[in-house]
Amino acid sequence: MKEFYTFGWYASKISPHLPKKVFQPVPSRLFGGLAYLIIAISCLVVISLLNLHLLWNFLISVVLGFSFAGLGFLGHEILHGTVVRRPWLRDFLGAIAFWPLCTGPKLWRKWHNSSHHVHTQDEELDPDAWPSLEKLAKSRLLRWVYRIPFAIRAFFAFSALTITFTLHSIRMLFYFFKDFEPKNRKVVFWQFLLPWATWIGLLFVIGFEKWLFAFFLPLLIGNFIVMSYISTNHRLNPLVPVNDPLANSLSVTVPKWIDVLHFNFSYHTEHHLFPTMSSKYYPLVKEHLKKMWPERYHEMPMGKALAALWKTPRVYYQQRELIEPRQGNICGTLGNGLDPTRIQHRKVEVEQELSHNFVDSAFKKVVKHK
Ligand SMILES: [Zn+2]
Ligand SMILES: [Zn+2]
Repeated sequence: MKEFYTFGWYASKISPHLPKKVFQPVPSRLFGGLAYLIIAISCLVVISLLNLHLLWNFLISVVLGFSFAGLGFLGHEILHGTVVRRPWLRDFLGAIAFWPLCTGPKLWRKWHNSSHHVHTQDEELDPDAWPSLEKLAKSRLLRWVYRIPFAIRAFFAFSALTITFTLHSIRMLFYFFKDFEPKNRKVVFWQFLLPWATWIGLLFVIGFEKWLFAFFLPLLIGNFIVMSYISTNHRLNPLVPVNDPLANSLSVTVPKWIDVLHFNFSYHTEHHLFPTMSSKYYPLVKEHLKKMWPERYHEMPMGKALAALWKTPRVYYQQRELIEPRQGNICGTLGNGLDPTRIQHRKVEVEQELSHNFVDSAFKKVVKHK
């Protein structure tokens, strides 16, 4: 079996080769945020005050959607403490940056920094990890979802990227709420409520039609952009017993100008090695990773990763493979036989006669096959 190493282990091997400045916060990232904020507020004012043709409103909406996503990427960076170090300022700026996506800084740091980063691709502890077959068999909702034919499910799964970030973020509020100290729960609740209150308040001020272009459509676009990254960050990788970023993460590649717009969010493996380093320096980390562990490092163009995501099932089978429970089709994950250009399946026998709870039957059979 392949050996795993922790992110700290990799970081300790690369750190000596990096200049000292890469470990300092980079406040100049805020200029990008300011630019997005000015653009977003201008777009909101234009939609609200002028009665433009629908086509113009639509185009402005797209710009707003890109700004929502861009601000979200910056918010992620700010809340890792890579822009400013003072906790109150970090949370304040993070709250502004995440305002359009309606995610509060306290909840985000718990969900993302303390859970996703610490337990990446741990089936139980990573709130962003996809389920295994064992989990699927226990969930009535998931069993129902997996009865839908694969092609239809893939289509809906991709369409759902336009709402997934928002839905997952609401789910995270309920999931983590009880884990906060009682005095912090109020803060978490208000940080969640205030952004929603302002956006719903705007609905009453400017009316439904303008609000669709000012908030609803940009929210869908923003969701889709951030989820295009989030869904390819780890979902083609295996579940792992050790939080090894070279095994459990994928860096996608995008044109340079998109990296500028998205604050280098494409460098996700690098981010998991050095979450408290400004993403400005990730290209440097990538150079070292590719030099030191070329056979372990996973990288592919964003389009190719999304296509592979479309073609592969999303349930883990024995940690290192993915299974389509309905047919028992199994394919590899990155580093475990998955070739994104030629996705091949092998079959695990499933019983011919499947009752309405066929997933259970498939599950039992698959478990027997182990
Ligand atoms: Zn991640
Ligand atoms: Zn992060």
